[in-house]
Amino acid sequence: MVVGMLKVFSVIYVDIDGILCNNTYGDYEKAKPFPDNIKEINRLYDEGFTIVIWTARGGTTSIDWSELTKKQLKEWGLKYHYIDKHKPNYDLLIDDKTINNVKMLKSI
Ligand SMILES: [Mg+2]
Repeated sequence: MVVGMLKVFSVIYVDIDGILCNNTYGDYEKAKPFPDNIKEINRLYDEGFTIVIWTARGGTTSIDWSELTKKQLKEWGLKYHYIDKHKPNYDLLIDDKTINNVKMLKSI
């Protein structure tokens, strides 16, 4: 897909906590969705991007949050292709392909 400044991409990894909902720091049942961000991700899904939900939920505790996470994403109306639960635990991500403000997606 040709987008913006001739960048070509079709797969978008999307974090859950802090992007699709507020960050509850492990208290996931209390997560509240961010409708504006979900709307933008759904638009990208509808435009043909592959949306991969990338989460570290349970990564340090070994608690399986899969069912709660799938239930939340369904309730929040998020469109996605699959969930990748292998996001590593880190405190800072430095990556040339990263944005953390979904408003920036409006330009895609
Ligand atoms: Mg996060």
